[in-house]
This record gives sequence, structure tokens and C-alpha cells, in this order.
Amino acid sequence: MSKRDYYEVLGVSKNATPEEIKKAYRKKAKEFHPDSYTGDDKKAAEEKFKEASEAYSVLSDETKKAQYDRFGHGFENGGFGSAGAGGFDFSGFSSGGMGFDIDLDDILGSVFGGSFGGFGSARKKKGPTKGADLRYNMKLTFEEAVFGCSKEINITRNETCPDCHGSGAKKGTTEVKCDECNGTGRIQVTQNTIMGSFSTVKTCEKCGGEGKYNPSPCETCSGNGTVRKTRKIEINIPKGIDNGQAISLTSEGDAGRKGGPAGDLFVVVTVMPHKIFRRRGNDICLDVSIPFVKATLGGKINVPTLEGDYEFNIPEGTQPGTTFTIKNKGVPSMRSHVRGNLEFKVEIEVPKKLNDKQKESLRRFAEASNEEVNKKKSFWEKK
Ligand SMILES: [Zn+2]
Ligand SMILES: [Zn+2]
Repeated sequence: MSKRDYYEVLGVSKNATPEEIKKAYRKKAKEFHPDSYTGDDKKAAEEKFKEASEAYSVLSDETKKAQYDRFGHGFENGGFGSAGAGGFDFSGFSSGGMGFDIDLDDILGSVFGGSFGGFGSARKKKGPTKGADLRYNMKLTFEEAVFGCSKEINITRNETCPDCHGSGAKKGTTEVKCDECNGTGRIQVTQNTIMGSFSTVKTCEKCGGEGKYNPSPCETCSGNGTVRKTRKIEINIPKGIDNGQAISLTSEGDAGRKGGPAGDLFVVVTVMPHKIFRRRGNDICLDVSIPFVKATLGGKINVPTLEGDYEFNIPEGTQPGTTFTIKNKGVPSMRSHVRGNLEFKVEIEVPKKLNDKQKESLRRFAEASNEEVNKKKSFWEKK
């Protein structure tokens, strides 16, 4: 699947500032979000919204943006670190083909509410950095997705070290000025080549560019400020969630460094198919077989719904392929909680084995209808 360039998606140039990217995304999000979109092609608008959200999720993140600028879409497959325990996918949620539904309140709220901290103000390398966003793939049964559920998951993530509270320093010690770079965080390297000598500036390795370091790092976290922890988190799946949609948990991702904000956790849902029900938006569809006599004479039939059988009266002379609707037996809308409908399509059962009595009745029926019985007629003779 070929993907559009993220800059093109948001309609900004490669040199756009974070402010411009944010503005462009906000505009697109407003235009195409299902809650505010006013045009006719809702499906296309939803796709555009997802596309813009995905583009923004990458271009608004310094690290991901840098990787994208260097490697393009290729970086999403494996550019992002390893999987943690428990099937945790650490890939930064942009793998191709994944659906992406973002609720304005859930995600835009958190994005614009500043969890992407330091936006607009040029962030220095050595300053606080935001923790990585994490993705968890969750399988749900058809019913769990329709009615919502609560699930416990185990995720392994970086958490702020409880002993040094993220500073990376052993209790009672302080950081000292780095002697390697004399506190500048940078080291000038001069290379002599046949073309002449070139000077380049490198980040100081000893202090990681911070200009200072701790001679006695915290033993718990080896000075990282964060530790790997596996944690149980309860996830409330809202009613009506659909295959490929994601819910976000603000600040449940990796802890930030040096007091930076935590990343978010995205739970991406895969809904397993149901034996008889199919989903179409918020409607549930199924096929119902009824005996041909019932279709002819009409009467009560039992239609399966997610909440047991529903008695339905089909009219006399119901034709194969006719679709009937039972209101409010579909999927609750995630936003309005209004339920969709259940639509069932009638299939007519033609009996395969009849006893003599039944055959006789049908022959009499045919005679009463002036049909010739047991005489083959070709389509062309019929008229
Ligand atoms: Zn520590
Ligand atoms: Zn240094």
C-alpha cells in the first residue's frame, strides 16, 4: 500500500515550523472529523481524518519526524526499538493499513492540551524529552466490541525511577560540570584530509551533550532516570468500538526523560468476526433462512439478535432476498450511544426431502394455481 507523503497530507512544506504543522493539522482535523464534517462523503472524510492524524502523530514528534525525514515511510517498519514483554509492540503506532480513529476529546484534547509538551518553544536536546508513545494490540470478540468491556493488560514500559525520581543521581549526590567538554556538551573535532582540514562539532559522549554528569549515578536505574516495569492496566473499551479503531490513554506510555512528559498509550482494537452477524457501521446484518411456506403465507419468525431471539412478523408473499429492519438492535454509536439497526435478509428454504403426503399437497397446490405438474416446460415455451 503506497502512502502519501506526510507533508503533502497536511499541506505544509518540509521546512514548516511545529506551529505551522499544528495549525495545518488542526484545520484538517476540524474539516474532516466525523463530528464536524458536513459534506456527503463521510467515508472519504474519515479516511482523510485518519491520514491527517497519522501524519500529525509523526510530524509533531521530534524524534519520529527526524526519522521520517531521513528514511521516509520505511522507518515505521522496525525503526522504533524492540518489542517488550507480553506481545507489546513498541513501533510507534504508524504501521500501514492500521485503522485509526481519533476522538477529538480523547486525543486532540490531550494533544492540544499540551501533553506534547514544549511545543512551539524550541526544545533543546539536553532538556526534558517526551516519553515514547506505545501501542498495544487488543483482540475483542464481536460482542465485547458492541457492548464495551473492561480488560486488564500487561504492558512493559519505562517508568520514572522510584529511587532518584528521574534525576539519575544517587541520593545526596549532585551533578558536576563535565570536564571532557568543559560544560558545553559539545566537542570540536578536526579532521585532516587531502582537501584540507575540517572542523565538525560533535555531541560530547561523556555527558551526552548535557554539559554535566553525575559521577555517582543512581544504582537502581544506572543513571537513566527510568526503569523498565511491567504493569497491569485496566482498559475500558467503550461500547461500539470497531475493528482498527484505537483508544488513547494519555500519559500511560513511556516516562519522559528529565521531567519531560510521558508518552501516550494507544490500544488498537481487532474485532474478531462473528459466526452469524456482520457489522456495517453501526448496523448489524445477518441472513435468516425461513421455510418457503412461511414466506408465502407470512407469519411469526424468530430472528437472532445479540440479546436473544426477536419475534418478527413477516408479511405474506415475502420474496427471497428481501431485507427487513429491526430498529435499535444494532451497535451503539461510540459518540452518541444511539443504537444502529439490525438488518436481516431473508433466504428461502426449499425442502429437499418431502414425504408422499407433502408432495401430494404441493401437487394439489400447483393444480389450484393452474400450474402443470410433472411436465417439463422450457423457458422459451412458457411465455
Ligand atoms: Zn534512579
Ligand atoms: Zn561533556
